[in-house]
Amino acid sequence: MVEATNLGFPRIGAGRELKKAVEATWKGRSSAEELETTAHDLRLRHWQLQKQAGLQSVPVNDFSLYDQVLDMACLLGCVPSRFGWDGEEIGTDLLFAMARGTDEVPALEMTKWFDTNYHYLVPEFERGQRFHIGSEKVFRELEEARTAGMVARPVLLGPLSFLSLGKLADAGLERPDVLAKLLPVYEEIFSRLAATGVDWVQVDEPFLALDLCEGGKAGYRRVYEHFAGLPRPKVLLATYFEGLRDHLDLACALPVEGLHLDLVRAPEQLEPALARAGEKTLSLGVVDGRNIWRNDLSASLALVERAVEVLGSYHVQVAPSCSLLHTPVDLEGESSLDPELKSWMAFAVQKLGELSLLARGATEGREAIAEELAASDEARERRENSPRTFDRAVRERMAGVTPEMMRRRSPFAERSPLQHERLQLPLYPTTTIGSFPQTADIRRARASYRKGEIDETAYREAMRAEIRAVVDFQEEIGLDVLVHGEPERNDMVEYFGEQLAGFAFTENGWVQSYGSRCVKPPVIYGDVSRPRPMTVEWATYAQEQTDRVMKGMLTGPVTILQWSFVRDDQPRMDTSRQIALAIRDEVADLERAGIRILQIDEAAFREGLPLRREDWDEYLRRAVENFRLASCPVADATQIHSHMCYSEFNDIIGSIAEMDADVISIETSRSRMELLDAFVEYAYPNEIGPGVYDIHSPRVPPREEIVSLLEKAREVLAERQIWVNPDCGLKTRGWAEVRPALENMVAAAGEMRAAAGVPA
Ligand code: GLN
Ligand code: ZN
Repeated sequence: MVEATNLGFPRIGAGRELKKAVEATWKGRSSAEELETTAHDLRLRHWQLQKQAGLQSVPVNDFSLYDQVLDMACLLGCVPSRFGWDGEEIGTDLLFAMARGTDEVPALEMTKWFDTNYHYLVPEFERGQRFHIGSEKVFRELEEARTAGMVARPVLLGPLSFLSLGKLADAGLERPDVLAKLLPVYEEIFSRLAATGVDWVQVDEPFLALDLCEGGKAGYRRVYEHFAGLPRPKVLLATYFEGLRDHLDLACALPVEGLHLDLVRAPEQLEPALARAGEKTLSLGVVDGRNIWRNDLSASLALVERAVEVLGSYHVQVAPSCSLLHTPVDLEGESSLDPELKSWMAFAVQKLGELSLLARGATEGREAIAEELAASDEARERRENSPRTFDRAVRERMAGVTPEMMRRRSPFAERSPLQHERLQLPLYPTTTIGSFPQTADIRRARASYRKGEIDETAYREAMRAEIRAVVDFQEEIGLDVLVHGEPERNDMVEYFGEQLAGFAFTENGWVQSYGSRCVKPPVIYGDVSRPRPMTVEWATYAQEQTDRVMKGMLTGPVTILQWSFVRDDQPRMDTSRQIALAIRDEVADLERAGIRILQIDEAAFREGLPLRREDWDEYLRRAVENFRLASCPVADATQIHSHMCYSEFNDIIGSIAEMDADVISIETSRSRMELLDAFVEYAYPNEIGPGVYDIHSPRVPPREEIVSLLEKAREVLAERQIWVNPDCGLKTRGWAEVRPALENMVAAAGEMRAAAGVPA
């Protein structure tokens, strides 16, 4: 019989119960016991949902109060020495201290989980660290699941991926040394799981599907051969987010009992995997764990049937492509979604149903699920032919895109003097990245407007008052290029999505971003176009309040794509191009309205990079094209800015230059300008605003500190290239810090000008 299985379930709860409970604990409003009760209820509820859906086993240890990588670090006893761990069972206090830091010690670093918008905590490896089981969580949850009558499949992060996710905190320390110390702990975990009668354990090794050097590949061989002879449950080695490609031979040769393949990202790997699987069980990731679309059951079933034909049903499992962590919980929670759209969608709970149907269809034959197959086919056809997904005008425009549309009229060297002439900015011009503090008043006004408590006129006036205040403030402290402050935007993607055709919004489509933080990505379901101007009124109003230059603020085509659930019926970059055309219209309208500087934020440009290097060129080419398509309709004298948040620029600097923005602002203050190295080596020709003020912290940077950062920048860049700005938007900060910080920034720019012998 073909089993339906799951790699992980979202843990936040359909009503974000976990978020609320965790935050209440942090605020001291509820006890650790109350938190544990909520967590226990959620685990139970989620296991029951899976069992009821027809899954034969349920994942265990996929639950987490904060992050599964942090949990793994706790399980392995990988706690940085600054936390003063006594070696005893790690409780929630220490767990949250590692996650969030304390007054005395900083938290673990946080970074993106592969190409998702989930963030994990980075394990730290120190010299002289000794590992041992530091948390009983996996064993406790295993017992809990069994008590609830579940067949439990514990989930662990594999040693090689854990090692790759972590960072070496001490110089001279090498990863193989760390690995050698981690392995005995894994052995002990495996042997304890086996002793309690666990049949299968899911060992996640997503790095096996990424680029590996020869040494890396040998590591997989060595580690899994080592485990082969030891007491342990059957191992299902799980890869996801990419196909195994050139590592398929390696993966199939590893002495493990099962292998999970992401067949949504890489369906083509099925045949070669079947040819190499031998006695292994293959877990077929046919239901998309990264998106909200209903499965094409007929197409998936064909893959499953093919696997059964080769391996026999006993050696085939049906699974989501990856953990369902990245999907919202339950579509039934959507009451105001358009019914047609809703009929095309599936959240985690609905995906469980799909898994179970597929397993049944593969076991009992197509007839057993004939009705559901027909319904799925029909839904697919309806979606394909729906006028909602297809807009002839957009298609014609797409077909008419020419290379000229992606080029500024003149090269930077010719545009630049025209811009300087027109803008009349001093050396070291000062500006901000766009948003100013989103105060409780602003949020209240937006919420009241949404709820219909205040009318449009009152809402507009509230926002205009905010814009006036922000403009006055910026004039008062002497910034050179002003912004309107973005009070009308609760989110830089949602704001645009709400005004573009082809986007839909859910009420409860939350997914965990990090810790208790959840995001509700827009859904791009159809061809994208811009029915009417989106920002022109606000930007012109803001410009009318001042004689200084007002920057217009837009979000770029890659970032909007990256932070949405994207339609899966056309290539992602085609969708991004449609967005680019819509932004292009906005750019042209803003220019026509007299806005002289336009900033197109591409915060997610770097994070959109494919996981495999061989795919980078194609992505970068298209991403650059789309940015240029959006930004290039303007005259030479109109200045285009772009902003990117923290990024490793070294390997993509050529593409950043090709974007050909006149000015780019980046985050550099935390790395003390080290990130600029990339720009220097490449001899980046255009202008740059290396962030001089870390907006992630409430700390006010003193003037001298900003001066010293700017001096560093001056060592590596020409003075005419340097802009002075914070690292990112100021939306999450309070005025009490923003005022003095920006005052110091303006004063620092003045000092730099004086040193250069120009008027401050
Ligand atoms: N313009 C946006 C802001 O200032 C940019 C935010 C971002 O880069 N994440 O908030
Ligand atoms: Zn940013």
